[in-house]
Amino acid sequence: MKIPFNYLNYQFKNKTKYFKEWKKLIDSSEFTLGPYVKDFEKRFAKYIGVKYCISTNNGTDALILSLKSLGVKNGDEVITVTNSFYATAGAIQACGAKIVFVDSDERYQININKIEKAITNKTKVILPVHWGGASPDMFKIMKIAKKYKIKVVEDACMGIGAKIYNKSPGSFGDVNAFSMHPLKSLNVMGDGGMIGTNNSTIAKWLRKYRNHGMIDRNNLTMWGVNARMQPLQAVVAKIQLNQIKKIIKKRNKNANFLDKNLSKNKYIKIPKRKKNYTETFSLYMANFKKRDKLKKYLIKNGIEVKVHYPIPLHLQKPSKVLGYKKGTFPISEMQAKCILTLPVHQYLNTTHLKYMVKKIESFYK
Ligand SMILES: *Cc1c(COP(=O)(O)O)cnc(C)c1O
Repeated sequence: MKIPFNYLNYQFKNKTKYFKEWKKLIDSSEFTLGPYVKDFEKRFAKYIGVKYCISTNNGTDALILSLKSLGVKNGDEVITVTNSFYATAGAIQACGAKIVFVDSDERYQININKIEKAITNKTKVILPVHWGGASPDMFKIMKIAKKYKIKVVEDACMGIGAKIYNKSPGSFGDVNAFSMHPLKSLNVMGDGGMIGTNNSTIAKWLRKYRNHGMIDRNNLTMWGVNARMQPLQAVVAKIQLNQIKKIIKKRNKNANFLDKNLSKNKYIKIPKRKKNYTETFSLYMANFKKRDKLKKYLIKNGIEVKVHYPIPLHLQKPSKVLGYKKGTFPISEMQAKCILTLPVHQYLNTTHLKYMVKKIESFYK
């Protein structure tokens, strides 16, 4: 049996609905921003539960622009977690600010007990990540930020479709970033990103900055960049948004099956599932004894597993100048050695899942 990690072939099998909508767009020639992009921004804002959404061409730009909109610059410090995707730290660096890492917790989220110790008088922003589509305790993070009068930018790139007590990731912080990369819970056929905020002044600034700082064709009020979302992708994103509920439900059902069946195994440690938190399961991760051998064995048996990631951010080469060493963040370093990501996507059925469980069991026997 083959169990692929990448499900895009299934997802985009039926192309008719995309072609139908694209035809309308092509006939309208609205290729830069325009009504299709605006329409999707509105729908997305409603879905997430924020007042304003500003689309970008990818999640990394959404992060960079979010930080810039809060004035993050050279001399500032931004606190984030050391187990995330490169873009989280890269975005801080792109603003010229200093990256300050903290360790993860046992759910692979930013360790909220370590945040306060990392705060200095230069800290401008806390940048928590909804890693893997699970969420840290955003209520506590907002409390810390308020106490020290610092801002919060959520990296909700993997968090579209998750819930924390009925609130969406990306609806807590001051300015928040989402990604629609092909392997996120809401995806387009290429790159796409979004910024969400409830602050009208910041939203206005972001709309301008995203489009060269123009107020109209002939007038600038500041220098900006081109970080516009492609209307062709906005159309795809709109179609996906209509299906997100179903996708998240199915992924949760699959994850639940794996949780139940794998948690009996003493060589596997499933992260705690917090009550009233719904995950997107962008990544289904757990700790596995003899991870590297297991990984090889599963791949040999047709199960495409991955590691997100074998090297935490503070041990990556560009972090060297920040002075981090092995041993600085023991939890994330331990996790990097034993985490494994199993396929859990919406196109897997019980037969696939049973096969995966069976193979994992037979490996440990
Ligand atoms: C995917 C991802 C990003 C970057 O998004 P892109 O759209 O690929 O630029 C940033 N942070 C996290 C946590 C991600 O998973």
